[in-house]
Amino acid sequence: MPELPEVETVKNIIEPLIKNKTISSIEIFYNNLIKSNIDDFKNNLLNQTFLNVTRYGKYLFLHLTNNLVLIVHLRMEGKFRYVENDNFRIKSTSLIFYFKDGTGLAFDDTRKFGIMYLSTEDKFKELEMIKKLGYEPFDVNSNNINDIYKKFNKKKPIKLLLLDQTILTGIGNIYADETLYLSKINPLTLGSELNNEDINQIVENSKKILRKAINLGGSTIHSFHPGVGIDGKFQESLLCYGKEGEKCPRCQTRFHKIFLNKRGTTFCPNCQINHELQKAIGITGPIGSGKSTALKYLEELGYLTFSADEMVHELYNETYIQNKISKILKFKFVYSDKNSRNYARKIMIENPTLKTQVEDYIYPLLEDKMLNIIKNNENVVFEVPLLFKAHFEYMFKKIFVIIVNKDKQISNLNSRNHANDLNSIKINSDFNYNKDNKNIIIIENNSSLADFFEKIQENINKD
Ligand SMILES: [Zn+2]
Repeated sequence: MPELPEVETVKNIIEPLIKNKTISSIEIFYNNLIKSNIDDFKNNLLNQTFLNVTRYGKYLFLHLTNNLVLIVHLRMEGKFRYVENDNFRIKSTSLIFYFKDGTGLAFDDTRKFGIMYLSTEDKFKELEMIKKLGYEPFDVNSNNINDIYKKFNKKKPIKLLLLDQTILTGIGNIYADETLYLSKINPLTLGSELNNEDINQIVENSKKILRKAINLGGSTIHSFHPGVGIDGKFQESLLCYGKEGEKCPRCQTRFHKIFLNKRGTTFCPNCQINHELQKAIGITGPIGSGKSTALKYLEELGYLTFSADEMVHELYNETYIQNKISKILKFKFVYSDKNSRNYARKIMIENPTLKTQVEDYIYPLLEDKMLNIIKNNENVVFEVPLLFKAHFEYMFKKIFVIIVNKDKQISNLNSRNHANDLNSIKINSDFNYNKDNKNIIIIENNSSLADFFEKIQENINKD
């Protein structure tokens, strides 16, 4: 659906084309387009001349002689088409204004949601559909921001409040997602949970995004084109909208998509944290650091514990997953067959791109499983060796990173008969973690077990 920048672009395109053009006749092919009296519409517009075009929110106002104002809302796919040749009517045409000079203006609308309403200069602003519109983001300033604070103070997700045209007008799905992404606010956050600073951020970012989009001629998404043969360029600058499954350019976490009142909503779960979901404890660290020991200890303390490795094993046991991996690796992958597993490992070591493809397939499946557990349980602890690599940081209120010195690491592995794992120490010793994450707690496991448990105990209770 065209939003403020697209409607502004339409305004800028049609105004010079129809200025000073006088209507000689009107053909209406879809009566429901006209929301005011259809006879008055025809009779009053006949012989009138277009003067200029203005816009408010997503509404266009075509001002004419005789104090007439034609209100237009493009809705889903309505578009104007200036006609100079004979092709006045195409399949989706709902209406044509013919001008005295032989040109014309057609209104094409495949979905037939667009509306037109004929009013007058003294009355059009008082019409309910116009009067109820809120401020355009550009008009929000220190004098009226209190109004916005008040109107956003509702127990409703901020994404829906942003789409509510009676609070701010002009923002639709695309620019709401972009604004929240830039503001680092989760779309599910209730308006009442936002402080004034958050709202200032949202307003300022929406201005920034809308301005940039206007300068680029809006976004050409789906079938919206501001004019024939004219495409907006902002879609190339979109950071978040429509990027489900792609990686966030800021943090590399996979973009998620949810539906809010049937509106698709894309966001980065890591940049736009949902604090309701951020409630599990994560345990990670290099191989042989003592992650499983820590997990077992927390299980004894009454926590609900899960091993991500085991969850991955469960996934690999699924036939549809083996089929998908067979496709990626181009050989028949059978998880229960040790030779097949070893061969898969060999291929992935030799070809890191394929390894990434397998990970990009498996991680989201694991992520969904983990989120499901977190949503439905309290006091959950996950042991996740690949926590940082898979960008799962956002799920955890605390992340225990267990570190050990080399000697301890080797003795841990020996004591567990992990002879094979010794070879992989080199690979795993470059275990990296995001040091900026404030939820990370480093736990050293270089002395006794009692000492290790004490450190865990101490940190788990800390707020
Ligand atoms: Zn991000």
